Amino acid sequence: MNNTLTLKRLVCEHCGAELSGLSDCITFQCETCYRYFIITPEGLKDIAVYTAICEEQYKEQLLQLPFWVIEIDRALLRKEIEGSLSELRNHKGTIAKTKLEKDPEDESDFFSSNLHTGMEKLNIIASQRLIPGSREIEYLISTIESFKSFFIYIPAFISKNPFAYLKVGKLLTGKQPAFKIEKSTLPGKPVMCALQQDEAVELIDFVFFATLPPSILKCGDFLNPISLKVSGTPRLVLFPFQKRENSFFSIIGEFSISHRLVDVIM
Ligand SMILES: [Zn+2]
Repeated sequence: MNNTLTLKRLVCEHCGAELSGLSDCITFQCETCYRYFIITPEGLKDIAVYTAICEEQYKEQLLQLPFWVIEIDRALLRKEIEGSLSELRNHKGTIAKTKLEKDPEDESDFFSSNLHTGMEKLNIIASQRLIPGSREIEYLISTIESFKSFFIYIPAFISKNPFAYLKVGKLLTGKQPAFKIEKSTLPGKPVMCALQQDEAVELIDFVFFATLPPSILKCGDFLNPISLKVSGTPRLVLFPFQKRENSFFSIIGEFSISHRLVDVIM
């Protein structure tokens, strides 16, 4: 195996200017031509960065936090939800048909046969799986299908707090806010992105499940086989946040997160 380590200067592939960035960040903006680049395991790649447009004017400068915005395939999700449900219902049907009668071949006395039946019942109770209510599932599917597209939001900014990913991603995903985006081409700060696209895609199930009500979440056997499939190309989008006393207020979706969830380089 050839284990050579190659050190390369980070140079803009477009204009040749040297790229400088912030430590911990994997994205760079060329200071000369304002194009964006991301470091991937395969090397430096150019990347389109989008900004969510803020309709109102704010006096102060807003904090721009990057998220991977990932559209999911809703038809496949519906299929998986229905498949998992019918699988569980079939299993329940099998249990209902299981007879708890004494085996006629069994010559054991009354006590041990009762014990046998008792154990069998216990085993059946243990194998009972929780099935979410059909109304709840219908509501979930119709909610997801009521939007033009359904996106999962994965925070891409630097945070020492893993709950930040769950919390902020869950809030934006749960709200499915409507907003416009535009391609960022203006000079500015480098994007504070610390998460690769592939890593973000691996987190979509996790964030989506976090948005579900507890009554569905407790049905682990129902959720286990469900996994979201990506539709289209994930986009790196900057979302405007307003710094408040002890929190950051998301202008898109209108919610606050604790300032402790974000390690900000300002
Ligand atoms: Zn350049």
